[in-house]
Amino acid sequence: MITTDSIQTLRAELQKARDQKKRIGLVPTMGNLHAGHLSLLSIAQRESDYWVTSIFVNPMQFGPQEDFLNYPRTLESDQKALSEAGCSALFAPTVNEMYPEGMINHCSVVPADIACGLCGDYRQGHFEGVATVVAKLFNIVQPDVAVFGQKDYQQLAVIRTLARDLNFTTRVLSGPTLRAQDGLALSSRNGYLAPADRETAAQLYRCICQIADRIKQDDCDVHKIVESGKESLEHSGFCVDYLEVRSANSLATPSRHDKSLVVLVAAYLGATRLIDNLEFDVIAPLSV
Ligand code: AMP
Repeated sequence: MITTDSIQTLRAELQKARDQKKRIGLVPTMGNLHAGHLSLLSIAQRESDYWVTSIFVNPMQFGPQEDFLNYPRTLESDQKALSEAGCSALFAPTVNEMYPEGMINHCSVVPADIACGLCGDYRQGHFEGVATVVAKLFNIVQPDVAVFGQKDYQQLAVIRTLARDLNFTTRVLSGPTLRAQDGLALSSRNGYLAPADRETAAQLYRCICQIADRIKQDDCDVHKIVESGKESLEHSGFCVDYLEVRSANSLATPSRHDKSLVVLVAAYLGATRLIDNLEFDVIAPLSV
């Protein structure tokens, strides 16, 4: 595995791979790799011959009050894990390499409306930062396939739209959310949780599972079920940004005849913001 922080070096390596007719894969990450990231790597490995993992904590996607400075950076152990996993190249650029002219006047990608609502309402500018850095990475690597996690459900929808609308030839693939034994979705931010909160955190997944189960039962009132889910989370100590049921993929407000749904949640435990989601199907018409 080569490790580089240079766009030029990475491009030269990619050219060699392309000359050998290798299919290129990309897994963008912010590092502090866990088993969830590694599961995406195995999809990249299956779908490509030369795969790049990027590690870049992208300042453009963090708000001024967010955790950019404290975000866990563990490059050495990440490098080891990637090398053991069979990664071809690790691209770990500096902020200056990605934004040599700074971010103020940097051209940016304004995502489609799918970035509005949900996290878009609570993290101003976040998806614009994500769309911009992903577009840059797609242009730098020009991957045949790129792999993203369903854990960041709205982000995945934004990126699919970005690839479609801006005519990237990259195929966007997704991988399911990996969870700890108690159901908590693996996340680099779980490390921020105080030990007492770590146990409570698992209630987030239990709550969205219960909501999906109850909605699957006939003749249910979605609004009431969601409201009672929110109350029980708040009772357990969460501060809920949102808990919503939407149409799967489009993220539109569900209509009576929607069959594929997703329940999405973002909530704070102490200073730690956790997100999760669960897709599910219904048979009977919804009561919305
Ligand atoms: P991050 O490093 O948090 O930016 O995540 C990099 C990629 O890994 C994104 O596509 C995430 O959706 C994905 N990811 C994060 N957590 C998980 C998880 N628990 N299971 C699967 N994929 C994940």
